[in-house]
Amino acid sequence: MLTFDHHTLGQRVLFGVGAAAENVAAAVRELGAERLLLIAENSITALPDEIAEHLPVVAWISEIAQHVPADNARAAIALAQTEAADAVVSVGGGSATGLAKIVARDLGLPIVAVPTTFAGSEATDVWGLTEDNRKVTGIDARVLPKVIVYDASLTASLPVQLAMASGLNALAHAVDGFWAPRADPINTALGTEALSALHGGLTALDRNPEDLEARERALYGAYLAATAFASAGSGMHHKICHVLGGTFGLSHAEMHAVVLPYVTAFNTPYAPDAAARVAKSVEGRDGASAATRLFDFRTALGVVGSLKDLGLEESDIPLAAQLSLKAIPTSNPRNVTITDVEALIRAAWAGEPPDS
Ligand code: NAD
Repeated sequence: MLTFDHHTLGQRVLFGVGAAAENVAAAVRELGAERLLLIAENSITALPDEIAEHLPVVAWISEIAQHVPADNARAAIALAQTEAADAVVSVGGGSATGLAKIVARDLGLPIVAVPTTFAGSEATDVWGLTEDNRKVTGIDARVLPKVIVYDASLTASLPVQLAMASGLNALAHAVDGFWAPRADPINTALGTEALSALHGGLTALDRNPEDLEARERALYGAYLAATAFASAGSGMHHKICHVLGGTFGLSHAEMHAVVLPYVTAFNTPYAPDAAARVAKSVEGRDGASAATRLFDFRTALGVVGSLKDLGLEESDIPLAAQLSLKAIPTSNPRNVTITDVEALIRAAWAGEPPDS
């Protein structure tokens, strides 16, 4: 019997290669916005210039850092207030979207988000903020962008390694969603479709970085995965990664790529349906487990392979484990002890095969 309570978040989602400027203009018109705060990465050039030239931009922030440092957030809010901004347009990865979200949370401004990575923040109502080395996250309907403008050509300038890591971050949204606190048949279906789009898109992109269709397929998968994650909530994987990112400053996408196989190996005996979905979508040797397939896929894509290589000190592992344990949902399919989580982080730190 089906018994669940599923929330679908309301957003307009536009896809179109080469159509970002036109679609942003249409979205801004629809919102009736007349004073835009533009939050745009320096690494993306043409689109922000075009937006600033043709739309009513009153302020432009290009200083963007990962995990939304509180000082940057305060400065962005103050600028939006001084310039009486009535909407935010963000162009960039999860960090640019994340900064826009804090402005939206505190000032109630609508966001038009133009993602340039596969992070997926644009499809969630989750905000994050980091102060005094602690990352806090929360859910707030005001931070969900009103409109998402996807244009796969904007991801073309992403360095290949970063694109692959970002795609694996998206994959983690789908997989972690399978055992997250509000997992249900609808977000599981979205996550399953996301896995196949992401696996197919990233595999094709690895063969040919110029393949725009592959980028678009990965972007579509990233959107589906983030939608599934927004609905299902943060599972064990995301809680560990929030600690590793917020307290130890590890690079977001790569860290997700590294940790996912270990959480999957840990949960697999207690989440056989989730493991079967991963094993079906992610190619691998006959009989290889879901965790090994994820590990081998990450290796094949050339993404960094250990938390040690991302800069985590071995001496930080006990604190990372303690902080993670406090955050891991009690609904995780497998009970987690401090010994478990420390062993998991240690294996990810060393980059050992996950089933060993
Ligand atoms: P990012 O936004 O920090 O970008 C990584 C790097 O890539 C930056 O140097 C950026 O300038 C550069 N870059 C981005 N797009 C580019 C492009 N098209 N071409 C060239 N360079 C480009 O990284 P990310 O992984 O996209 O986002 C990570 C952040 O997003 C973290 O803070 C994370 O917590 C947050 N996040 C939040 C959610 C959510 O639901 N709230 C979901 C996913 C990620």
